[in-house]
Amino acid sequence: MLAKITKWAVLIVATMAIVLASFSTTILASASKPTPSWGSWKDTTITYQTNTSSSYYKSVWKNAVKRWNKVGVVQLKAAKSGEKADITLTSSASLSTKSGKLAGYTNYSYLKKDDNNQIVSAKSTLNRSLLTKYGYTKSQRTNVATHEIGHALGLSHSADESSVMYASDRYASIDHQDKVGLQDAYQN
Ligand SMILES: [Zn+2]
Repeated sequence: MLAKITKWAVLIVATMAIVLASFSTTILASASKPTPSWGSWKDTTITYQTNTSSSYYKSVWKNAVKRWNKVGVVQLKAAKSGEKADITLTSSASLSTKSGKLAGYTNYSYLKKDDNNQIVSAKSTLNRSLLTKYGYTKSQRTNVATHEIGHALGLSHSADESSVMYASDRYASIDHQDKVGLQDAYQN
């Protein structure tokens, strides 16, 4: 419990540092910057499969999928039964991942091309033990799910805390900069 509180306090300090610096032009520049991307799928129609027995997590993923579809850049469609989905959405009961304590994570593969990385497969996992232990609400879990699908669609982390792609956040959903970032990633 003490370790958890210490970690949270560190997070708050980082957030406050940004707030205190908000009068500088650095923050304004950062706010208008599109969310960076690391790659994109070949087609804007992308299939997904929810691979979890929990109806709760099925609905969390479904809501996150809806949010990205609303942006209008890519269309995520449920894979037909027997069809191999591009993106797998799942949840895990193990508290610690290889990379430490993560609320969610996305594994992916891609083809390295001259102008872009072409995504071949992606699997996003919600760490349900951690989400429960740290008291995430359903809407906060949906934000984490939205963040992970953002990675699966090719977005990287944003330095802006109002972006859903901010590296350590449970409060942000898709922001304007995320929409522009996704548009940029699929423009070519
Ligand atoms: Zn991330």
